Amino acid sequence: IIQLYVPLNWFGTYYRQIQKNFVDMENMFELMKEEQEVIDAPDAPDLVCSRGGIDFSNVTFGYSPEKTILKNVTFNVSPGKTIAIVGPSGAGKSTIMRLLFRFYDVTSGAIVIDGQNIKTVTQASLRKAIGVVPQDTVLFNQTIKYNIKYGRINADDSEVILASRSADIHEKILTFPQQYETQVGERGLRLSGGEKQRVAIARTILKSPQIVLLDEATSALDTSTERNIQAALSRVCANKTTIIIAHRLSTIIHADEILVLKDGEIIERGRHEFLLEENGLYAEMWNQQLKNLEGEKLRDEKVFEE
Ligand code: ATP
Repeated sequence: IIQLYVPLNWFGTYYRQIQKNFVDMENMFELMKEEQEVIDAPDAPDLVCSRGGIDFSNVTFGYSPEKTILKNVTFNVSPGKTIAIVGPSGAGKSTIMRLLFRFYDVTSGAIVIDGQNIKTVTQASLRKAIGVVPQDTVLFNQTIKYNIKYGRINADDSEVILASRSADIHEKILTFPQQYETQVGERGLRLSGGEKQRVAIARTILKSPQIVLLDEATSALDTSTERNIQAALSRVCANKTTIIIAHRLSTIIHADEILVLKDGEIIERGRHEFLLEENGLYAEMWNQQLKNLEGEKLRDEKVFEE
């Protein structure tokens, strides 16, 4: 990586002018910069991820020493269970995901998967065990097939199709000019937000990791797309240990535990019904979302009447 990094840095000088055409690379740059922060121990073993249980114990972290972002975050996800993280913007939700992926090392405390501190294992094995469905999926300027296979490069065509069906995007791909061979991305066919998300789901289904991290899209999709995506998501998460960053609380009412994060601290935790009874920040967020929904419904009805 260090060898690669030098010419890429040089390239960075010219980078701004042509930035538009290099969204994929931009993403790679980000990854490489972040990977600089963390180095495998010389004899680091691979992670043995059998069941995918996750333990955060007293995790404290800051991107710089002056500012602590996460403070004493402790939680545990049993194998196959789902937890959701909610909270205001800037609370540290994505930071938790980045730490689990080990883009950074914790300042103090520990993140443990199936009994192994993630600091002690190889990053490659750690990342193999974790699938990510991000808010906004970056596509390579490549065929749609390649973009899905990216989840597991050696998958064969029938596996790609199976994953696409499961992610509810197969039928859509058949309508593309060259079907699975259609070029997508900045220089090819542009996909909608919902379609890109389904590509990410198909990738993750192919990868079949023990742990799935899901960063729910903030922008609402239309209701039927939304329902299909929810169904695809529940297929990708079935029997996996799942952490969801949720923006729409209606999607997490069945989560095994909900963590409410504010200013880097867990201020409430529990299941949906319990948190509503607590009448704290979660209840406030829930009521706000209900109000917004009602507002939208009223507006829709008015438009309809007009
Ligand atoms: P959102 O819901 O808006 O995505 P979040 O809860 O996911 O917010 P994080 O992205 O985890 O919040 O950010 C937590 C804090 O860390 C914020 O104050 C943010 O400005 C800061 N932060 C995030 N990334 C970096 C970084 N690479 N370097 C320095 N500070 C950062």
